Amino acid sequence: MCPYCKSHDGKPCAVGEKPNGRLACACGRHSWPNSGAFLETCRLMSLTVTRTVHDWTQSY
Ligand SMILES: [Zn+2]
Ligand SMILES: [Zn+2]
Repeated sequence: MCPYCKSHDGKPCAVGEKPNGRLACACGRHSWPNSGAFLETCRLMSLTVTRTVHDWTQSY
């Protein structure tokens, strides 16, 4: 699933590999030069989400 889109109208935005080796999400808004870059984005996005939830919990 695309870490930026996550989903469109409840359907996950799938990420697939193109014939040229790049990865791109199903709607075409985001692409990555290789799977390493994609995984790094997923990691960064999940860290961001975790931190956001943490801040929200603290302020609550
Ligand atoms: Zn996307
Ligand atoms: Zn999308």
